[in-house]
Amino acid sequence: MESCIFCRIVKGEIPSAKLYEDEAVLSFLDINPINPGHALVIPKKHYPTILDVDEEDLKKTILATKMVSRAIKDALGCDGINILQNNFEAAGQLIHHFHIHVIPRMEGDGIKVWGGKPYKEGVMQEVQKKILSAMVK
Ligand code: AMP
Ligand code: ZN
Repeated sequence: MESCIFCRIVKGEIPSAKLYEDEAVLSFLDINPINPGHALVIPKKHYPTILDVDEEDLKKTILATKMVSRAIKDALGCDGINILQNNFEAAGQLIHHFHIHVIPRMEGDGIKVWGGKPYKEGVMQEVQKKILSAMVK
């Protein structure tokens, strides 16, 4: 993927503030942080969304996410951490190379990640049925 920004970061063609690297995974600071220390964790191989990621690469990426989260918590003394992951443009995905956001949070920082609203009567069960019928294990 020659035009992919994250592939170019992996290749070293674009600079990044690296936090962690191994043979399969890279982590670096997001250039437009929600809070200082906001990091991204990516598999080095290009996969567009979570639906495409190879299982081994997914495991390595989530384990690195835990490691990076621990370092961010200890180093920055944040009160919380959001792990966020966008897939497809409708969900806010701008870079089409699978990535996990690690977002340090401070008590009262005022950032609203999402707002839930309750189901109408019976709708939760209908949705559950639909999803269960499509589940592939
Ligand atoms: P998403 O909306 O989940 O696709 O998020 C993409 C993220 O990548 C955004 O938070 C951007 O700020 C971040 N980003 C884009 N270009 C770079 C870059 N060159 N280095 C670090 N982060 C970047
Ligand atoms: Zn890529």
